[in-house]
Formats: sequence, structure tokens, C-alpha cells
Amino acid sequence: MLEYTERIRETAKRLLQEGKAEVFIGYKKGTIPLMNHPVLISDPKGVDLLYWDSNCGLNLCNYLTGRKDKIGIVANGCNSRSIVTHIIENQVRRDQLHIVGIPCTGMIDHRAVMRAVKYREILDVKDDGDKFRVKGNDYEETFEKRGFLQKNCATCTHHNPILYDEMLAEPIEEHEIQDPFKDVEKIEEMGPERKWGFFTRTISRCLRCYACKNACPLCYCPTCFVDESRPQWVGKSIDPTDTMTFHLLRAYHCAGRCTDCGACERVCPMGISMRQFTRKLNKDALDLFSWEAGLHLDKRPPLDVYRTDDYNDFIR
Ligand code: SF4
Ligand code: SF4
Ligand code: SF4
Repeated sequence: MLEYTERIRETAKRLLQEGKAEVFIGYKKGTIPLMNHPVLISDPKGVDLLYWDSNCGLNLCNYLTGRKDKIGIVANGCNSRSIVTHIIENQVRRDQLHIVGIPCTGMIDHRAVMRAVKYREILDVKDDGDKFRVKGNDYEETFEKRGFLQKNCATCTHHNPILYDEMLAEPIEEHEIQDPFKDVEKIEEMGPERKWGFFTRTISRCLRCYACKNACPLCYCPTCFVDESRPQWVGKSIDPTDTMTFHLLRAYHCAGRCTDCGACERVCPMGISMRQFTRKLNKDALDLFSWEAGLHLDKRPPLDVYRTDDYNDFIR
């Protein structure tokens, strides 16, 4: 991981010095362990802030929206797919970007680590690739990373960037995932009442803090529907109807666009699995339209397109 950090720093310095980038977007080590956060560097002297390990779970594409300058950016599989989505939605131009690709072995689920150390304070985490070491005041434990992957990373089929200008390492092998939508299928099998109960329970602890929408690169509307007052599409309370309306509408706005990067779940202070909504739509996009978001620069997402000769007769 240190090796990747060094390569990112060298690349960022070169791009900034050569004028190929006016700003470089990457991650810096978090002020709290397990939570690295995005950083924008415009001075080559500042590249030592850049950092990479398995705690870079936020989506950098958020910082591309509407920019007009030349940008260098680190991209793993899901970040690169969000970049593709941003380009085809005209939020940034391809020729503004210098994409520094990084093969990704997955991000660590910080909540699983906290459970494993029984919620003792974590002072430091050292990521050695396959294993990571967690240190507290009076303890030190080592864990296998594969047992602590974020849920989205455990079913990821695009670890390597889809789009890049240069790669920092050789791509890693993509393995086929047996039944990647098993979780969605389990919910689909429920009857309407059980399903309603399941989703109501899922969102019952939601505070409407909107961290999930703020972390999502797809939520870039200048005024989100939740903030509109004329008309007011959804009430502001934490009444279950308002909360459910927020989650359902947000999920539908992400239909055919979500890259399952997991940033929304990662930032939720209540640990709510709101990807259960977007994953159902990802599955439908795949089943009904053979579509996965962020894989093609030259194709329009299914909800952008109407074809009179569409092979799906339900659409005509
Ligand atoms: S979803 Fe895939 S590319 Fe994205 S962080 Fe997880 S393993 Fe990496
Ligand atoms: S809805 Fe969540 S998983 Fe999908 S792109 Fe947005 S932040 Fe990523
Ligand atoms: S981040 Fe969590 S608590 Fe906040 S609005 Fe989203 S689901 Fe609700």
C-alpha cells in the first residue's frame, strides 16, 4: 500500500509540474483511523499529503462536478465508472481529465472492524495488503482483509479502472462472483407485506441527515428534490412516509447510474443499508436492459433512451 502511495505522489507531482493537471484529486490519511478522505492538491509541494490504502471508500467523482480546469484524479474500478457516468452526463469533459488508474483489492468495512475490537478505541491501522493491524491503547490485533471487506467490495466485479490515462500497477484478475444479487433475490422473494416491513425497518433509524446523498457522486442537482419548497415534493420530518419517500425517490434517481461504490452506506452515521434500494435497481438495469453503469463512454444509459425497435416489448 505504501508503494501505491509513493506512486500516486510521484505521478501527481509530475502532472502538476508539467501542467497536465491544475489540480490533483486523491485521498489523504484520515484524521481518524479507517476513514481516509478526499483531498485536492494544486501545488506540487503538497503531494506528500496524498495517501492510499484500503480505507479510501469515499467517491472522488463528487469533486469533479462542474469543474472547468485540467484535473488529475486517482481512480479504482468504481471511481472510474462514476467518472464515465459524469462524462456522459456532461458534468465534466473527458479531455479535462488525466485519470491515474489503480487496481483495487477492496475497502475495509470500518463497522466490522469496530465490532471485532469490541468498540474499543482504535488509535492506528496499518494496512499491509492482505492483512491489516489495528492498534489501540492496550491492544494490537491483526486481521485478514478478505473477512472485513465492505459489502459492495465483496461482490465487486470491476476492481480495475474502466477508463484511465495511465495505470500505477498491472490490472488484477477479475473473478466471477456466484450469484452477486443474492441479497436482492432474498428480498424479491418476500410477499408485499413482509417486503414493506423489511424496508420500513431498514429506514426506521434514518435521521434525514443526507450524508448518503451528499457522498453520492450522482446527487449533483443544484437543488435536490428534498430541498425544494415550491413544490415541496417530500416533507422534512422523520415521519416514516417522508423518510421512505426520500429513500425511494433518491434510489430511482440513481437507476441505471449507480456504480455500487458504497460511499452512501459508508458515511451513514446510523449504519443503514440503503444500498438495498439501489442494488435492486442495478439488478433490474442488468436483467431488463443488459446495463451496468459506467462501463461505456459511447452508450446512453437505459433511462435516457427510447427506441421504437426496443427488444423489450414492455417499453412500447
Ligand atoms: S467496489 Fe470494487 S473498485 Fe470499488 S472500492 Fe470496492 S473493490 Fe474497489
Ligand atoms: S447510490 Fe451509493 S453506491 Fe450508488 S453511486 Fe451513489 S454513493 Fe455509490
Ligand atoms: S446517511 Fe443514513 S441517516 Fe443520514 S439520511 Fe442517509 S440513510 Fe438517513
